[in-house]
Parts: sequence; structure tokens; C-alpha cells
Amino acid sequence: MPLKKLILILGDQLDLDNPVLKSINSTLDQVVMIESADEAKFVWSHKAKIALFLSAMRHFAKRLEELGLPLLYIQQSPRSIVENLRAIIESEKFTHLVCIEPGEWRLKQAIEALASELKIKLEMLEDPHFYCSRQEFGAWVAGKKELRLEYFYRLMRKTHGILVDEKGNPEGGQWNFDRDNRKPFPKKGPGLIPPPELFEPDSITSEVLELVEKTYPDHPGSLRHFRWPVTRPQALKALEGFIEHRLGTFGIYEDAMWTDTPFGWHSLLSSAMNLKLLNPREVIAAVIQAWKKENLDLSTVEGFIRQILGWREFVRGMYFLDMPQMAEDNFYDHHHALPSWYWSGETNMSCMQEVIGQTLEYGYAHHIQRLMVTGNFALLAEVLPKEVCDWYLAIYIDAIEWVELPNTAGMALFASGGRFTSKPYISSGAYIKRMSNYCDSCQYKPDIRFGEGACPITNLYWNFLIKHRKQFEASPRTRLMTANLSRISDDDQAAIQRHAKVILGDLNAL
Ligand code: FAD
Ligand code: SF4
Repeated sequence: MPLKKLILILGDQLDLDNPVLKSINSTLDQVVMIESADEAKFVWSHKAKIALFLSAMRHFAKRLEELGLPLLYIQQSPRSIVENLRAIIESEKFTHLVCIEPGEWRLKQAIEALASELKIKLEMLEDPHFYCSRQEFGAWVAGKKELRLEYFYRLMRKTHGILVDEKGNPEGGQWNFDRDNRKPFPKKGPGLIPPPELFEPDSITSEVLELVEKTYPDHPGSLRHFRWPVTRPQALKALEGFIEHRLGTFGIYEDAMWTDTPFGWHSLLSSAMNLKLLNPREVIAAVIQAWKKENLDLSTVEGFIRQILGWREFVRGMYFLDMPQMAEDNFYDHHHALPSWYWSGETNMSCMQEVIGQTLEYGYAHHIQRLMVTGNFALLAEVLPKEVCDWYLAIYIDAIEWVELPNTAGMALFASGGRFTSKPYISSGAYIKRMSNYCDSCQYKPDIRFGEGACPITNLYWNFLIKHRKQFEASPRTRLMTANLSRISDDDQAAIQRHAKVILGDLNAL
């Protein structure tokens, strides 16, 4: 029987250099792309996230057709991707199924199970968009007691010769310039920030926006501001714009937050990289070129590169290493429901209003907003990790499980119990006050721990420390946090706990 390949391209694998597109036999083989309405509904996705995937897929399909590739493009199928594959393989008698490894464990398992059931050969290739293969990550993990980003990141720098000298020493004499970065905006505000590149919807995108409004009317979020890059030329333009206008100031204000400033100096490149419209190697090469040409601060350049070469690669490695357990992890045994205002932004807490509000408008919030505002609150409010992870997966334009889950469960919620972070990322309202102007317009006061006007985040922070005092005292990384508890009288600690009980009893009321 002749070899007959069905070549699957998923919605986050939109790269013309995709190795599965090499050596296609146009008379026998078939490329397939599937819009599964079932997948879009499986997670209660933000409208902009659905639109981004559909528009980028349709633009990519157009390019494949222009190149004369034998493409079957299935629009808005009510069936799942796997059900579609089954029907095509059975009716067309394909002998091979070829794809790049999906970024979602569940789908990977389902495709493997299908191939084995139908007894066809499955060629699942390693995703070439990552610096670190799964085997390399496995080799790095082997025999290690502690899995920490910092050591992995140094290895990546050395292995790929990025920001190191000929001897493998770090540029500027240190691996990490965090101390020079991460300042709040000046007291009078962020000033004029050059806007990111925005892309007016063309006819394909406009059609998709209409379809999403019609087909998914009840889904969260708005399409009003949909200007995301959906093609490779647009993604390249977004990269160019960031390098030219925003990179130089990225590091210093990386963690800063301000009302009506949804993007700060951030790159907004995650969705383009995650859809594979951009390769992280070209992003890092462009950053290094700009650093040399424009004499940019090493601190900003290193800070940016660490996010991509460090965190992005590290969380992907952890995801595939720890799935499916990671999705079930619940270190603190938290079981509260996610407050309903996570889906509407209708809460009295200004910080949550701002971050959730911009998330619903754009499908975007930057790292610290995700980690130290919505993530911090969900951890302190003892919300079931699965509910929080579902929210992050649904609501962010760049959310794909391999990157969303380790960031949410592992980093923001400490659900994996220190498997790859050394301490829970928690803070009181004092941190939000220092890093933003959110508290200025809030009905609560960040420095009040209980009673009238008490900031719920501050109250729940101290409540959390009281509750987990032993755990925090056991580690030198967290001992200092509980040391501050000794300055709070027993009566006040009891009042903090009483106040927290009321808050935790009705999170929707906040
Ligand atoms: P910039 O701040 O400009 O950073 C540059 C790039 O670095 C990003 O585009 C991204 O590719 C990479 N990066 C930065 N931080 C991380 C990180 N912690 N993990 C992986 N890559 C990183 N990122 C996603 O791409 N998808 C997600 O679903 C996602 N969910 C998150 C959930 C939580 C709870 C947290 C705390 C973080 C999450 N992140 C996620 C990481 C990070 O917040 C986003 O990558 C970033 O905000 C995207 O905006 P940007 O492109 O402007 O990034
Ligand atoms: Fe958020 Fe508390 Fe500040 Fe209000 S006072 S904005 S709830 S941190």
C-alpha cells in the first residue's frame, strides 16, 4: 500500500517553516486544519482569544493555498479535532498521521490514542520553536533535588551562547540584573509611552469578528479593541516596533502598574510567539542586535531575554514533565469557588477592577498584574486551583496550556508545593500600593488589616501567614515574612482571622 500522509496543522503551529510541510506528496498527502467549535466551547474563552486563533488560522490557510499545498480547511466544526481526524483517516484511508507535538497534554494523548486505535503510523515531531527539547530538559532535571529557573537559565545562556563571553561568563559580570529593574512608575505617572503596533482588521479578520460575535455571544470579553497581529508580516512589524520604541525602557518598569495603562512598556509578543508567527530565536537575535547597535542598558536586555530563554522554556519543560499531575495539584487543599466578578470586573477592589477590566477589554494583562493581582488574590482567597487555571486559560489572548498551567498552578498558586518555585508569591496591599496607583481610587485602605476600610488583600495576606506560619518559618526564604507577625499582638491576629472568615465566607460580596 502506498504511503498516504495526513498532515495536521494545529491553530498554534502557524509557521511556513513547519517541518511537517516539507516533502509533501501533493497527489497522495493531505494537509488538514480544523476549526473546532467544540474546542472553543470546551474552555469558556474570551471572544478575542477565539477571534485571534480563527483569524490567524484563516490567514495561514490562505498562504498554504497560495503555495499550492493540498489543504483541507474545516470551518467551525461542531466536532472535536480528534473526531474530525478519525472521520478523515477512515474515509480517505490514510496510512500516516503527521504533526508537531501539541502544546496541550490532553490533545497529545488523544491523538496518540487515536493513531493506536486506527493502527496507523503516527509521526509526532518535536516542536522546533523551542530552544530546549523535551529530552534536553529531562536530562537537566535528572538527579536534581531542586528545579529552579536560575540554574536552567544559566545553562540555556551558555548552551546557546547568549549574553556570554568566549569563556561562558555572563556579559556584565552577572547573570541577573533584576535589582536594576522593576521600579514603580514615577509618582506623577508613567508619562507618554509609545503605543504598541496595532493592526486594523482586514476582510478576513472582520469576517471572523462578526462570526465570533454571532456564534459565541455569551462568551466573556470584548472585540472592540481587537488589533492583534494575525499574520507573520504583522508579527514581524510588532517585533520591530517593540525593539525600536519600547525595549529600551522595558526592564525598569517591567513590574509597574497604573490605571488606564494596560500595556506599559511590554512587548505584547506572547500571542505571536505562541501561535508560532514569530520564532523566539529571531526575537532574541533582534534584541541583541538592538542592544549592540543602540547601546541599550544590559539590565533591560537581560531582563527581557530571561523571560523568553528562561521562563518560557522552563515552564514548558515543567509542563510536560509534570502532566497530568500538574492539573490536579492543590498543595494547600483550597476549595473556594472563583468569585463571579473574575468574569465581569464588578468588584469594589480597584486593583482587581483595573486588571480584570483591561483583561476583558483586551485579553491582556502583563506578568505582574497576572501574578501579583489576580493570582495573589486567588491564592490568598483559597480558591480551588482548577477554577483559577480555567479562568486564566479562557481569558488571556496568549493562553495555551503548556504555558498557562505552570504559570498559574505552579507559580501563582503554589499548587505544586514548591516543585519549581522556592516560595509562594504572596503580598499584601502594600506591594500593590508601591507598584501602582490603584489604591488611590479604592474604597479600601492597603495598610488596614481588619475592621472598617480594611483592604481585603492585606487582611487575607496576614490571615494566610497566620494559618501557614509553621511552613513559612521552616524555610529561610520565607522566615522573614512571618517574623513580621511577631509585631502584631495576639488580639489583632485574632481580629485579622475573624475579618478573614467573613471575607472568605462570601467572596462574591467584595
Ligand atoms: P513581556 O513582558 O513583554 O515578556 C516578553 C515575553 O517573555 C512574553 O511575550 C512571553 O513570551 C515571555 N514570558 C514572560 N514571562 C513569562 C512566563 N512567566 N512564562 C512564560 N513566558 C514568559 N504567558 C503566556 O504566553 N501564556 C499564558 O497563558 C500565560 N499565563 C500566565 C498566567 C499567570 C498566572 C502568570 C503569572 C503568567 C502567565 N504568562 C503567560 C506569562 C506572562 O505573564 C506573559 O507571557 C506576558 O504577560 C505576555 O505579555 P508580553 O508579551 O507583553 O510579555
Ligand atoms: Fe487593591 Fe487593597 Fe489597594 Fe484596594 S486598597 S486597590 S483592594 S490593594
